[in-house]
Amino acid sequence: MESELGCPVCRAGAHTIDIPEVGVSLMSHVIVRRCPACATYWLETERYLAAVSDDEARREAPDVLAAG
Ligand SMILES: [Zn+2]
Repeated sequence: MESELGCPVCRAGAHTIDIPEVGVSLMSHVIVRRCPACATYWLETERYLAAVSDDEARREAPDVLAAG
C-alpha cells in the first residue's frame, strides 16, 4: 500500500533513521519517531520503518502517545 504520509524531510531521513525519537513502546515493541518538519509519526520495528497517521500511531503505541 502506497503511503501519502510524510514530507521530503522525513522521507529522506527514513533511509538513514534520522527522524527524532519520541519514545519506545513496550507494548508493541516499536520505536516511535516524529518528523520535526511535518509532525508525521513514524513507527520503527526490526523489519520496517513506516509513516503512519496520528490515529494509527496512538493505536500502535498507546503507552507512548496519549490515547484519544
Ligand atoms: Zn516530515
